[in-house]
Amino acid sequence: MEKHRRTLNSKLLDNAAAALRRNNFEAEVYEDGKAAAAALLELAAGGKTIGVGGSMTVAALGLADALAAAGKTIITHKPGMDFETKRAVWLAAQAADIYLASPQAVTLDGKLIFIDGNGNRGAAVIYGPRKIVLIAGVNKIARDQEEGLWRSRNIAAIANNLRLEKDNPCVAAGRCVDCASKFRICNAVTLLWKKPSVSDIRVLLVNEDLGY
Ligand code: SF4
Repeated sequence: MEKHRRTLNSKLLDNAAAALRRNNFEAEVYEDGKAAAAALLELAAGGKTIGVGGSMTVAALGLADALAAAGKTIITHKPGMDFETKRAVWLAAQAADIYLASPQAVTLDGKLIFIDGNGNRGAAVIYGPRKIVLIAGVNKIARDQEEGLWRSRNIAAIANNLRLEKDNPCVAAGRCVDCASKFRICNAVTLLWKKPSVSDIRVLLVNEDLGY
């Protein structure tokens, strides 16, 4: 059964990659996270500075550590940084050679969806870094924009609220209630319908569940 599920997922990812290419992104499918990580290291070979957006996918694959071990300077904010330090980090990441992040949803018609509390990742994936590399597991595939926004709010955001120990109403409700909480983590939607003209964006799709 697992074999058939993997085959089906592989088709889904192929379809999403083809749609992304039609929308002017570069896109490839990898059979597992290890293969995607190896591809990333090759892509990063010419870069010195790597901005990293908060991403459980990037963390699950140990990509920041692998890039640091390859001699890259990692630019990312850390818990406990004060606002001015974070702001400086976010601006430096915006100008990095490579920016690495993961969307909350990749649609089968080739759109990319991100929802952020602050918007630094959203800004970076539109314009700024020399190269933007986005990694997504098959669990991020959604039928269309509507389903992608639904999964971003009702799966990814709730899991992130739990991870960040934020007691927003969705945690108790088990669904997004479009809250008015001052600790809300869903403030800015970045929806890439097609690749912004001067940005260089490559999407690595992986045939395993990664992140939220
Ligand atoms: S309830 Fe609020 S914090 Fe939770 S997913 Fe919805 S908008 Fe985001």
